[in-house]
Amino acid sequence: MTAADPLDVSVVVIGGGQAGGEVAASLRLAGHRGAITIVSDEDSYPYTRPPLSKGYLLGQTERSELLLRDEQMYRSHAIEVRTGRHATSIDRRARRVGLDDGTDLGYDALVLATGGRPRHLPHPELDGAVNLHYLRTLEDVDRLRDGFTVGAHILIIGGGYIGLEVASVARRRGLEVTLLEANPRILSRVAAEPTSEFFTRIHREEGVDLRVDTRVAEYVLDATNRIVEVVLTDGHRLAVDLVLAGIGLIPNVELAETAGLAVENGILVDTGLRTSDPHVFAIGDVARFPAADGSGMRRLESMPNAAEQARVVADNILGNPRPYDAEPWFWSDQYDVKLQVTGLSTFFDETVVRGDPASGRSLSVFYLKAGALQAADIASNPKEFAAAKRLVASRAVIDPALLADPAVALRDIIAALPASV
Ligand SMILES: Cc1cc2nc3c(=O)[nH]c(=O)nc-3n(C[C@H](O)[C@H](O)[C@H](O)COP(=O)(O)OP(=O)(O)OC[C@H]3O[C@@H](n4cnc5c(N)ncnc54)[C@H](O)[C@@H]3O)c2cc1C
Repeated sequence: MTAADPLDVSVVVIGGGQAGGEVAASLRLAGHRGAITIVSDEDSYPYTRPPLSKGYLLGQTERSELLLRDEQMYRSHAIEVRTGRHATSIDRRARRVGLDDGTDLGYDALVLATGGRPRHLPHPELDGAVNLHYLRTLEDVDRLRDGFTVGAHILIIGGGYIGLEVASVARRRGLEVTLLEANPRILSRVAAEPTSEFFTRIHREEGVDLRVDTRVAEYVLDATNRIVEVVLTDGHRLAVDLVLAGIGLIPNVELAETAGLAVENGILVDTGLRTSDPHVFAIGDVARFPAADGSGMRRLESMPNAAEQARVVADNILGNPRPYDAEPWFWSDQYDVKLQVTGLSTFFDETVVRGDPASGRSLSVFYLKAGALQAADIASNPKEFAAAKRLVASRAVIDPALLADPAVALRDIIAALPASV
């Protein structure tokens, strides 16, 4: 970097989401004095997305409550936020970023926090369908909320967390809900069978018509470009008022790719979150980084990941190098159930269930690999989650019979661990 003192380097952040907003604030809070500019192609100042499919969709969280920090903070800390501006190019040799208004910005350090966009249904005839929705931004939710009238029928395509959270809010707002999952079970990419089974039951109990192994075979649109009916692969026809597709995220890598940075299902970074160019970092949903446990490269789509990566990059820019090695965690709210996940629930050869997925509103599922604990999904039990976090962090080999027995407190299992783990 060109400035002699890392506290004086000029930083440009592309993307004003969770990661972009956090990195700018973290730099200032750590005493950084150089210029900081956030380029955001949304109209809002940086805001947090998790409430979009929860309290905000429900109408219980105000727009202003979503902001990471109020606008005054950016002004008083001399952080320039260019909203409504898209970064269109990066000249890595000259270290300049081009914007869609023809201006450009010089940098010593560039942070790519470009996140991702919803994957669209692979049906070009649906482009512009007025009642088809995807969920990523505040504007997306405002549009969706407009159609949330009591008795309306929403078809949700995709049994991932976003689809399930929208189903839960829609039921609480009095809508009729059908949820289609193309795979044999919901949450199949992110959780083991007991967790899928648990949430399938909860949604059905709450009145969701949840169908697995089912897709839409045909969409019927009227003259106003509104989807009015769908024909399912099992032959059923359903009249619909709204359709929401929650079928995954495409990382926004194009800018990095055009600039010649290494990209492969995300922008590739090292443990310090540097890209293949040492002056350029990537963080949040768009970054693919080496897992601290040596299990390979991973890209995570979670708020804590985006926030912590931002803090790590701020330290690395300021000359206090440290690797990103935080334990992944995540949560999801559906009805009165809060699911909390610690570790990665995709890395296992055995699961242990504590509680009964077939009844009640709480459940704990532990994921083990070669006997060692890797992750846990804990529903409606914050105390157990706190203990599970400590256990998972230990990666200890634990007797599955102890984990499975609700009469054995997790804190007693922790107390019995050898001091070395
Ligand atoms: C509805 C919803 C619910 C969620 N719920 C949870 C939850 O319960 N728990 C959890 O842990 N996580 C949740 N997440 C995920 C979490 O919100 C994301 O992981 C987090 O927002 C990622 O932050 P980010 O800054 O990497 O990306 P984003 O928040 O996507 O921000 C990227 C920003 O960059 C902008 N951008 C992209 N390219 C350019 C460019 N060239 N020029 C200018 N700007 C650009 C984008 O428009 C966007 O504003 C949820 C996400 C959604 C959408």
